[in-house]
Amino acid sequence: MSEQEFDVVVIGAGPGGYVCAIRCAQLGLKTACIDKRAELGGTCLNIGCIPSKALLQSSELYEQAAAHLGPHGIGVKGVELDLATMMKRKDRVVETLTKGIAGLFRKNKITAFHGKAHVTGKQTVEVETENGAEVLKAKNIVIATGSDSVNLPGIEIDEQRIVSSTGALSLHAVPKHLVVVGAGFIGLEMGSVWRRLGSDVTVVEFLERITPTMDGDLAKELQKLLKEQGMTFRLGTKVSAVEQAASGLKVSVEPAKGGDAETIDCDVVLVAIGRRAHTAGLGLEDVGVVLDGRGMVEIDHRFGTNIDGIYAIGDCVRGPMLAHKAEDEGVAVAEIIAGQAGHVNYGVIPGVIYTAPEAAGIGKIEDELKTDGIAYNSGVFPFMANSRARTYDQTEGFVKVLADARTDRVLGVHIIGANAGELIAEVAVAMEFGASAEDIARTCHAHPTFSEAVKEAALAVGKRAIHF
Ligand SMILES: Cc1cc2nc3c(=O)[nH]c(=O)nc-3n(C[C@H](O)[C@H](O)[C@H](O)COP(=O)(O)OP(=O)(O)OC[C@H]3O[C@@H](n4cnc5c(N)ncnc54)[C@H](O)[C@@H]3O)c2cc1C
Repeated sequence: MSEQEFDVVVIGAGPGGYVCAIRCAQLGLKTACIDKRAELGGTCLNIGCIPSKALLQSSELYEQAAAHLGPHGIGVKGVELDLATMMKRKDRVVETLTKGIAGLFRKNKITAFHGKAHVTGKQTVEVETENGAEVLKAKNIVIATGSDSVNLPGIEIDEQRIVSSTGALSLHAVPKHLVVVGAGFIGLEMGSVWRRLGSDVTVVEFLERITPTMDGDLAKELQKLLKEQGMTFRLGTKVSAVEQAASGLKVSVEPAKGGDAETIDCDVVLVAIGRRAHTAGLGLEDVGVVLDGRGMVEIDHRFGTNIDGIYAIGDCVRGPMLAHKAEDEGVAVAEIIAGQAGHVNYGVIPGVIYTAPEAAGIGKIEDELKTDGIAYNSGVFPFMANSRARTYDQTEGFVKVLADARTDRVLGVHIIGANAGELIAEVAVAMEFGASAEDIARTCHAHPTFSEAVKEAALAVGKRAIHF
């Protein structure tokens, strides 16, 4: 058993862990990063953000070519789906990016270990590599072990017919009928992929609405648009069992509030009901690190656990389970370890759902402002009045700006429409600088661009939108 010494040992090479390791190395700290996967990049690059967006892009192109080019005067005949090639392209995108991180590790002289890690002491981590156990002595340990998908009790995921998001990213054939359990970001994105490729998609959701963390108006609009595209929604409904039959799957559903059960026949079920922190088996309890009731590592505002020198970031701690939140925490904790003032502004973390159209939000949602009794003004601008959206034939959706009634400071912005995920970035910058709606409204936006709708919604806060 060999032993090596580091300033920082990061467990987990997802966006939290690998970014933390790079920032530590930039700051002159001798750094190791461990992952039990052969490839770096964690959930995000291997089985999350990246493969899902690759399939969303391919399936979007397929649907465009098959059904939407006619009005542009482009006739396309005989559009065919080659699913195996689509999947290979997705795998290539993933491979390129994960190899890119390996390159960044080499460039920054970070030592990568592949194998399962255990925290065996306040300053020791053991890794089970294929060449035997390695003991790493660490002045600081960063836990960045991410999350796993949650299963429905009594329903076993086989990743063939009853799948988590991981199986849904690699199906070998287009399901005739896909039942998606859970109307969150992942369920709706993966449901969109398979609907575009030809599946009937039924989304079963326990709550009476989709995407519970999203602004209510956006969620309603998104549900309406996805329904128009052909998705079926069964809200306020719970799945109680999934039975495997020779002919396919039988999904038992019943009203969430109680009532008669019924059966939905399908050939694939995607369980997308959420994710939970991945901290089991790490040995954290043995060294006295406190976890909460859901297995998340408890941390203070400096990402420190109750044990000096052990920190935690990303999906395994509180806050939204998003890659960019994990990355920013990775940078902040590295700077704190190096004696600097690392910081994450949790009030300005965008959330994006990459359906078509995309939906994106940042800051407070309207319901929250109402509940908190904060007086606000709202400005809404529809994309149908935006000239670039007209040229693209992508006129669905709107921008909503929420600003403090007294100071005009932007409190939240919610966008549903083409490129919403890109448009939200200007708002993030504006909010970081404490901008008012007037600041955005008086900023010159290029014409014709979708971003003019953000400016117009900001103008609408003062009831002076020009084009609507
Ligand atoms: C289908 C899907 C789509 C998503 N799309 C988006 C999106 O579009 N945008 C977005 O922001 N987020 C998205 N997410 C969420 C995003 O992937 C996560 O928020 C992000 O990966 C969290 O980063 P992390 O570093 O905390 O953990 P992870 O990325 O989960 O990485 C943790 C790593 O730790 C390793 N590990 C765990 N335990 C051990 C151990 N004992 N020893 C060694 N290694 C260990 C794991 O192998 C893993 O590689 C998506 C997730 C899924 C599943």
